[in-house]
Amino acid sequence: MTYTTAELRRLDQQHIWHPFTPMSLWLESEPVVIRAAEGMHLIDSDGNRYLDGVSSLWCNVHGHRVPEIDAAIREQLGKVAHSTMLGLTSEPAIVLADRLMKLVPGNLKKVFYSDSGATATEIAFKLVVQYWYNKGRPERNELVGFAEGYHGDTVGAMSVGRTTAFHRPYFPLLFKVHYAPSPYAYRFEGSGVRGQGSGRSDEGVTEYCLGKLEGILREHRRTIAAVAIEPVVQGAAGMIVQPAGFLREVRRLATQYDVLLIADEVATGFGRTGRMFACEHEGVQPDLMCVAKGLSGGYLPLAATFATQQVFDAFLGEASTGRTFFHGHTYTGNAMGCAAALASLDLFEKNDLVREVERKAGVLSGMLEGLKGLKHVGEVRQKGFMVGIELVADKATKRPFDAARRVGHEVCAGIRRRGVILRPLGDVIVVMPPLAMGEEDLRVMIDAVGAELRELRA
Ligand SMILES: *Cc1c(COP(=O)(O)O)cnc(C)c1O
Repeated sequence: MTYTTAELRRLDQQHIWHPFTPMSLWLESEPVVIRAAEGMHLIDSDGNRYLDGVSSLWCNVHGHRVPEIDAAIREQLGKVAHSTMLGLTSEPAIVLADRLMKLVPGNLKKVFYSDSGATATEIAFKLVVQYWYNKGRPERNELVGFAEGYHGDTVGAMSVGRTTAFHRPYFPLLFKVHYAPSPYAYRFEGSGVRGQGSGRSDEGVTEYCLGKLEGILREHRRTIAAVAIEPVVQGAAGMIVQPAGFLREVRRLATQYDVLLIADEVATGFGRTGRMFACEHEGVQPDLMCVAKGLSGGYLPLAATFATQQVFDAFLGEASTGRTFFHGHTYTGNAMGCAAALASLDLFEKNDLVREVERKAGVLSGMLEGLKGLKHVGEVRQKGFMVGIELVADKATKRPFDAARRVGHEVCAGIRRRGVILRPLGDVIVVMPPLAMGEEDLRVMIDAVGAELRELRA
């Protein structure tokens, strides 16, 4: 089975429809075909090596072909690859649950497995609605989300995390959600949605957004089931880092108005922000918490939704009472995914990885300083190993580039020619290295970004 690069490209373009990809452009391009990987590098079909600067879409943790994770998967393969969690249980799923319980915020006591971020969030949204239903409050079935939040691409996830640029055609399918403004200080104009606003202080933005959130909760407290938030960093919206204290206040308001709090840690979980979970930055205990991307170290599709004992208990009772949570996916709690996750957690411990991320994030900050003065860098946002570099046509007015130019893609294509794989969010260049990336590779990556941005012309 050896295909030439030309054959692989031709067959790809003949058969494959790629996610989040304008296919007209793809069909005219010469896609990079990945054939192998080693550590922090992806290797294409011609043997070219690229630094994996977006952690294979935000999930890779320890790099590729990590001996310990490879071995754990092989060992699991020698026992069983997959068996169902419907009516049966499995050793790796049990051991992983026990291990996760020691890491997550202490009030979370139960884990419901699934296989992707969107399933983890859909499960949380269904759980909170049924929680109130089971408690005899079926009218409490509405959710509160944040403007331009992102929770995945299934219908429920799109409803709560409505990204206009992605989801507009599906608006007729989506259920009603209350949206609070998100604290996007750089482009804050009071409406709480992204615009060309002149920005405000963190305090002003926090106060405004929390005021709006409280207004929603006050007005609709009888019908709201839960508030859903991407804690500390709103990822897909462009790496919007919330002002310190914001999450804590959201938790306080949820408690005050007696609604549940869902923390979507799909992007931020597993060390990404310099804590095991972003909620720890603010000492926040959510009622439900969703994880996926980094859970298996970036190896296999595995996700989890955690719940408190209080939420779980509302689902107990005779089967005939209909309190059961009727939800599941074929590959829920997949054994190989759980084995990979266990090996990944061993490596977190062995390498003191979360603390290392915090330390290296400081080094990375220093490197990013050098980009801030560049002509088209509007803002650099960072929390741990989550970085967004927002590009603007005019720095003084914050005027964006013409969207049709797709400047983020243009810049990332140039960075790729320099041997680094990045993927933008609009005009925000995302830097999301595997947590294990060392300082030397970080330097190579940021140098490539800097070199490319220096060549960018309005
Ligand atoms: C990526 C992401 C999701 C969706 O995860 P998938 O595995 O792609 O379905 C959900 N929430 C957040 C915050 C994410 O970043």
